[in-house]
Amino acid sequence: MKIFEQEQSSVAVAENTTPIGYVHSIETFGSVDGPGIRYVLFLQGCRMRCQFCHNPDTWNQGVGDELTADQVLADAERYKAFWGKQGGITTSGGEALLQIDFLIDLFKKAHAKGIKTCLDTCGQPFTRKQPWFGKFEELMRYTDVSLVDIKQINPREHKRLTGWSNENIFDMLSYMLENNKHVWIRHVLVPQRTDFDTELIQIGNYIKTIAPIVDKVEVLPYHTMGVSKYKELGIDYPLDGIEPPTQARVKNAEKLLHTTDYTNYKNYPNYPKA
Ligand code: SF4
Repeated sequence: MKIFEQEQSSVAVAENTTPIGYVHSIETFGSVDGPGIRYVLFLQGCRMRCQFCHNPDTWNQGVGDELTADQVLADAERYKAFWGKQGGITTSGGEALLQIDFLIDLFKKAHAKGIKTCLDTCGQPFTRKQPWFGKFEELMRYTDVSLVDIKQINPREHKRLTGWSNENIFDMLSYMLENNKHVWIRHVLVPQRTDFDTELIQIGNYIKTIAPIVDKVEVLPYHTMGVSKYKELGIDYPLDGIEPPTQARVKNAEKLLHTTDYTNYKNYPNYPKA
């Protein structure tokens, strides 16, 4: 289904230089993807293959609804009254950074309108190679806060879980620390995959090393809501038979990640400086 049926024609006449976003779906009242109530844009495309992914329908790149930043903002602004001082726009996915040109255009224009921006990313596309790195630096100028997943701390285990190493993801967090770009850290807790005390203690220790930029730490319990999508897409479900973690294990993970130590998000709307 097209998201903005009546506006599709304007995409075709958009200038060549206008970046187009490939959009999977939109949530107009998101309350879990960043501060306050948010307009969440789920972008199409991801190169990771996390075993616990509940959105395999976002993996393909270059498909989905084609929208410009102006079109997205015109739609998003209809919900502005609900955002208060904390809310705004979040870009998620899929992996939003795969569409970095579109993100720059969107966040730059959002900031010009006084709209708060939040980037939800797994960090997989991050590189210090040009021209990508220059684009990332520009994007960070217009990003108020980022939500970054730490899926596994060990690069080899991370590769087993997601298909990719995590060294560049930690490099991205180093960049964010060096440049005072604030983040919420998230860890998806999956029994038999990411729920090991030794690993959780290591992640907790790592987070301490970047504490000045960490406003919140969240444990996201694995759930099985994506299973039917795998069936529809004809993909084998990698976590067949694995149940969500118990409440006791979630509490244990929160303790080992010291989630209660990271409370700066409560000081919003005094957002970190972008
Ligand atoms: S990074 Fe996100 S969208 Fe990509 S495979 Fe992992 S969970 Fe799915």
